[in-house]
Amino acid sequence: MRTSRPNILFVMSDDHAAHALGCYGSRINRTPNLDRIAAEGVRFDNCFCTNSICEPSRATILTGTHSHVNRVTTIGAHLDNRQENVAKILQRNGYQTAIVGKWHLGQGPAHWPTGFDHWNILQGQGPYFDPEMVCNGTKVQYTGYTTDIITDLAIEWLDGRSPDRPFLLLYHHKAPHRPWEPDAKHAGMYAGVDIPEPPTFHDDYTNRAEAARAATMRIDRDLNAIDLKLRTEEGTRWNTPLPPPDRIEGYTLTTKEGETVSFAGHEALKSWKYQRYIKDYLRCIASVDDNVGRVLDYLDAHHLAENTIVIYTSDQGFFLGDHGWYDKRFMYEESLRMPFVLRYPARVRPGWVSTDMILNLDFAQTFLDCAGIEAPSHMQGRSFRSLLEGRRPADWRTSMYYRYWMHLAHHHVYAHYGVRTHRHKLIYYYADALGQPNTIDEPKTREWELFDLAEDPCELHNLYGNPAHAETVRELKAELRRLQAEAGDEPYPGES
Ligand code: CA
Repeated sequence: MRTSRPNILFVMSDDHAAHALGCYGSRINRTPNLDRIAAEGVRFDNCFCTNSICEPSRATILTGTHSHVNRVTTIGAHLDNRQENVAKILQRNGYQTAIVGKWHLGQGPAHWPTGFDHWNILQGQGPYFDPEMVCNGTKVQYTGYTTDIITDLAIEWLDGRSPDRPFLLLYHHKAPHRPWEPDAKHAGMYAGVDIPEPPTFHDDYTNRAEAARAATMRIDRDLNAIDLKLRTEEGTRWNTPLPPPDRIEGYTLTTKEGETVSFAGHEALKSWKYQRYIKDYLRCIASVDDNVGRVLDYLDAHHLAENTIVIYTSDQGFFLGDHGWYDKRFMYEESLRMPFVLRYPARVRPGWVSTDMILNLDFAQTFLDCAGIEAPSHMQGRSFRSLLEGRRPADWRTSMYYRYWMHLAHHHVYAHYGVRTHRHKLIYYYADALGQPNTIDEPKTREWELFDLAEDPCELHNLYGNPAHAETVRELKAELRRLQAEAGDEPYPGES
């Protein structure tokens, strides 16, 4: 029955950058099961988040509103679960609803999932092994690898659901979030292999705003002993083992496996840390890929594939050594872009790519639209169902608004907002914490960045202040004003 309402299986991992999926042209890994979704459906090359950090992105996805509206602007600003969300609306309209895996929008009755017939969630970030989860309000201890367990729970729920009503299942992985702990099955992957370093690995942060240089998310300096799986004394394990560049000689690190490593120089040390980091990150992804394959097989075996919308995405992107970094937060491409592949055989033709701009802000309205339900007027995105069906509205967006609020909180990233069009990006670092207490040195100046993404896709050359681009800046500032007004947000006081 082509007219029946679709099931929605929303698979979201944590910190999985698009450039670590085979279907996005990864140079560093293969993801055959995730690629299958793209091959049998559509890949969006310009899916962006409006605030590149875990909790805010999740809150935006659920509520269809910007961070300043749902008030989850930062980590720790937990979701008030009395707010309307997409699960509540689908539930009221006859859908069976469930969430398994990472929630990360707060714990306790004020923050637990609402709108779900069934929920079984990790507490906070959750561990890679032996998670204690909260199932419909009761703690349950599990044994095993979290990626496998969450998949078991997803399949178990699918098995026990009613076949008579459509479902919404949010199947959320913890992986591949820091500290990147693979299971035994994947621990040996990439042994003896050098993963290629990205083109901007040795970025020196010149020609940029001060924010890039100030960020403490560098591969060489800021990865800690837990990240790198080093053998260290308890109590010093969060220290960052990096000697001054002229003291590399004679410096050694000892891995948890018991190998002692020395380095010919700073570049060798940085490269070694990158390999340690990226291999574990990719091993965690390999497990996600295997497990998503299990769920796709389940859909096939139970004749659910045709009328089920399957989405694979991640709450935001990640730096994979790009700019010498790990982590996210910045409005730069690797962090801003979300992978987004979707399969829906009943309505979406297989094997094509869209370059239209979609946002995490749009997901709720798109789900409702696909289910034939009108979205509430307070939601701030736009359904892209017509894009899925190969029709682009003439007035589809050509720009998007971004805002990162956590000024200097983690990794010393400056708060900023900006606008991205298909060609350009304009960012404003407003150098203030909106009244948040702040014990770290304030940045000296407020700064703008302008990038020409066609000429400079790696965003290495800030063109702001160059008279040749003054007209572009003027246009982009006007567009930024328009988008802020549309979102109900405001320019930072004193922006200049
Ligand atoms: Ca995340």
